[in-house]
Amino acid sequence: MTLHHSLALGLALYSEFISLLHIYSCIYTNYGFNSLGVSDALAFDAKNLSTVNTIELVMKLCKQIIILGEEFSSALRQSLRECVTVGKHTNIVHLGVGSARKYIWAHKDYQPWGNKLPLQCPQCGKLKPWVVTYMQKDKEYRAKCENGRCGEVGGRKTREAILFSFPYPEGISSIKVGGDACWLEVPIVDQ
Ligand SMILES: [Zn+2]
Repeated sequence: MTLHHSLALGLALYSEFISLLHIYSCIYTNYGFNSLGVSDALAFDAKNLSTVNTIELVMKLCKQIIILGEEFSSALRQSLRECVTVGKHTNIVHLGVGSARKYIWAHKDYQPWGNKLPLQCPQCGKLKPWVVTYMQKDKEYRAKCENGRCGEVGGRKTREAILFSFPYPEGISSIKVGGDACWLEVPIVDQ
């Protein structure tokens, strides 16, 4: 990646998010991506993307590529390793030439295997009721509502407490960020 391309990427991230979505569509139809002169691009899937949350990642990425001369994919992994907060806000898709990879933030208590837990139990309405257990044998996370009265109607238990199961997503690799959090790297297109 040239300096020009790196700077173009940084600027695009801030001002041309829509065009990045256009690039996102081009990669699947095998035209247009290289003709734009861009070999790597990032897209974010947050509904209301906040640059406050993404600027740290972009600055680290530009430093790794422009100053340290790192290759884009390795620079992105290194930057993600150092950026914890952006993952709570958005997932990230890296579009390369002939490849696309999604990076999903995961945390054992809040986003097991990258799945967001609801803030409120859909059955009893209790806020943040989840007790998360890791099933070592199957590498599966289970999140159960801790409210002993979950599923009760008129003092009678009519249903079991809500339980979510999150099986291990096959074909992924992870990037440790410390504590109980990590980034999951999921290949979307790999030629
Ligand atoms: Zn409940």
